[in-house]
Amino acid sequence: MDTIAVLGAGIMGAGIAQVAALGNYKVILRDIQMTLVEEGINSIANNLDKLVKEGKITLDEKNIAFNLIEGTTDLSMLSNADLIIEAVVENIAIKKQIFNELDYICPDDTIFATNTSSLSITEIASVCKNPSRVIGIHFFYPVPEMKLVEIVKGLQTSDETLLKTQNFINRIDKDFIIVKKEHPGYVVNRILIPYINEAIYVYAENIANANEIDLAMELGAGMPVGPLKLADKLGLDTIYSILTAFYEEFKDSKYRPHPLLATMIRGGYLGEKSGQGFYKY
Ligand code: NAD
Repeated sequence: MDTIAVLGAGIMGAGIAQVAALGNYKVILRDIQMTLVEEGINSIANNLDKLVKEGKITLDEKNIAFNLIEGTTDLSMLSNADLIIEAVVENIAIKKQIFNELDYICPDDTIFATNTSSLSITEIASVCKNPSRVIGIHFFYPVPEMKLVEIVKGLQTSDETLLKTQNFINRIDKDFIIVKKEHPGYVVNRILIPYINEAIYVYAENIANANEIDLAMELGAGMPVGPLKLADKLGLDTIYSILTAFYEEFKDSKYRPHPLLATMIRGGYLGEKSGQGFYKY
């Protein structure tokens, strides 16, 4: 494998393009408008400059990585890629349409990966003649900093697709876990989001203040960040939509978002990004 294509130059797509280029892959970064592609490439340039300043990479390494990235709006350019990682908006209809088009454009051995957080890989693969080439590669935000990748098997993903994906993740210097079957939340969010929800219950029942709940988990359970601070960072609307998806999928009351969460969202308290969540920013 030597060429990776990334679909979507947003916060995830740009991060994925950056780590792939630092792994010495040629990278084709595609979005629907050239201004969006340029924004993605500019954010990569800024991030690489920061890494040089911090002494994490040399100027030469930065220049080599940056020159490996080519931006485009032309989907047909992706026929040159060995692995395509889709990181467009979280919308099943858009993702299916893209994979269907790629299926006609690309050679049979191109691997199709999706970075979806919540949609079914098996459903996305259903629009491809050969669904065994489709896999989930779930990166975490911010991609250059977060070491973990969840590799997710759809119902028909082949062992060959899995092996080639593992080789790619090794080369970009990330660690991975294999999620043996697609499942809402995979592993990280399946455990993390209900934990945050429980902290919101403790807060809403007025058992302790927000900073005391966070301190309890930081000093008493060795967590690097308390659950309510983390909720503010991730966005309360994001937490709510993941919990709602779990609740609908599992039909289990343990995933019921605390009503306080909905009230806070209605009041515009979304966490850090809106200036107010469990804390004021
Ligand atoms: P984003 O909104 O920052 O970027 C999405 C980009 O996709 C936009 O630039 C948009 O123009 C582009 N796009 C839309 N339609 C397109 C098309 N047909 N072809 C090419 N590009 C198209 O979104 P994001 O946060 O980067 O999320 C992207 C994906 O990554 C989603 O599936 C999301 O669930 C997943 N994800 C996000 C996070 C996160 O923390 N943000 C974490 C893990 C996974």
